[in-house]
Amino acid sequence: MASNNSYPPALDDNLERDRLVEVIKDWSIAHGLAVWPAPAVIEEQKPRLAIHAPVTLFPSPFPKSCFEEAKSIQTTYNELYAAIARDEEFLGGLVKEVAGNDEFIADLWDVHVRVKKEGYVQPLALGLFRSDYMVHQDSPTATPQIKQVEFNTIASSFGGLSAKTSDLHRFLSQTEYPLLKDPSAHSLDLPANNSVAGLAAGLQSAFHAYGKSSLGHPTCVIFLVQSPERNVFDQRHLEYQLAASGVPIFRLPFSQTLARTEISAGSPARQLLYRPEHNPQKVYEVAVVYMRCGYGPGDYPSKDAWEARYQIERSNAISCPTVLTQLAGMKKVQQVLATPPTHPSSSPVMRSFVSDDTKFDNLWKTFTNIYPMDTSEAGQHARKLATDPEACKKYVMKPQREGGGNNFYRSAIPAHLKEIPEAQWSRYILMELITPPPLNNIILRNGELEQGGVICELGVYGTCLWDRNDGKIVHNAEAGYLLRTKGDQSEEGGVAAGYGCMDSVCFL
Ligand code: ADP
Ligand code: MG
Ligand code: MG
Repeated sequence: MASNNSYPPALDDNLERDRLVEVIKDWSIAHGLAVWPAPAVIEEQKPRLAIHAPVTLFPSPFPKSCFEEAKSIQTTYNELYAAIARDEEFLGGLVKEVAGNDEFIADLWDVHVRVKKEGYVQPLALGLFRSDYMVHQDSPTATPQIKQVEFNTIASSFGGLSAKTSDLHRFLSQTEYPLLKDPSAHSLDLPANNSVAGLAAGLQSAFHAYGKSSLGHPTCVIFLVQSPERNVFDQRHLEYQLAASGVPIFRLPFSQTLARTEISAGSPARQLLYRPEHNPQKVYEVAVVYMRCGYGPGDYPSKDAWEARYQIERSNAISCPTVLTQLAGMKKVQQVLATPPTHPSSSPVMRSFVSDDTKFDNLWKTFTNIYPMDTSEAGQHARKLATDPEACKKYVMKPQREGGGNNFYRSAIPAHLKEIPEAQWSRYILMELITPPPLNNIILRNGELEQGGVICELGVYGTCLWDRNDGKIVHNAEAGYLLRTKGDQSEEGGVAAGYGCMDSVCFL
């Protein structure tokens, strides 16, 4: 067992360090723990060469009780978000609060409204979720607790690479760490991580639930993707796992949706048909559309892109996610769940979705303070905090966006608010910063090492398939984890955005 104060081990000379770096680079390429380089690099590079994903040299310590708690409540979180995604009235109310100042959210809602008018044909909806947490600890002697950063309902990424990162650290713990002179990593307790198998199992459950094509076509799964995409290998791992179980899968750039898919003509069931570009004679019926795109305005440069989203949404394919499931992931939803009622006698909003006391308490414990930025009582309080040069230092302000790089931190909050009319502030939420205990690690990024203080963010994956009409849950599972680590000077944690890196958990 490693001791708390010396971990991770000090690498006592360049030999030890260089050796680890070489072994990690080889293992990463050999096992697809890889990314395409940034677009600027690709342009200069012919042919295009992939590179190892940014990764820590050692797994980071994470309190076992926190890790197990986060995993154990995932199926409850799945149920909660399935229930929210079914509550059109609740979501519609929140959309109304932000949509006036947020065209993207308004456009998404419009897609739902258009489909609702003609009636949805597919009763099932699939969620591949990820609930993100940081460890909160007031003082070194206080019991560490997990606090939720956010809940992702669309394009929850890194499940492919995170299982590989756990494998890498396990491999190193069997081969390289025992040879280090500093013994602190000689014997590590590393939890299993089934994120690839778990997420693929979620997709598989939807594929099977769809059943056979009534038109006599073979059925398939479509991975709807951005193009270009740096994080292809992450997606490929899920694809290969699914393909190994015999499911036909195609990657389709979102921009080609209208060119390569159509709704079956004259069939009220609105089957979604797909013709591969290299063999348009062959027709597949799409059982599941797994979106790794479409979560931000950048993916909708034209009216056609919105028509493409509409075509998916109105089709009979099982959408992962539907528009409503995507909207359930708004930061505004998380805020409304976490904000206590103004009057102590009234129930928290989450009560209407989670009636079981234990389940309710388990989720409630993971919330930190989140405020609306509207004109309500709580909103007025938040506006004071956000515009105060001292108070703002404890907060992050978030718009209704995904994918990293959209938030305002600390002193940037009042600075930003000065630039926009007060009437638009309600499109944000204000969240207390979670401050995890200090840790150290070494990050290998683009072949270079960065050593120092780090902050870790745990993500727990969940898969859920439910009937949007009667609420019946067809499949509900926890599906492995992600540990992302960033330098403690960085506000954002996105790996793809270049701030964070892949990591895995060890228990000390
Ligand atoms: P996105 O949907 O863009 O990923 P997040 O809410 O996850 O938005 O915020 C991005 C990053 O900002 C997180 O990965 C985390 O590093 C940091 N962050 C967000 N909220 C908090 C918080 N309450 N406390 C500390 N860091 C936070
Ligand atoms: Mg995030
Ligand atoms: Mg997110």
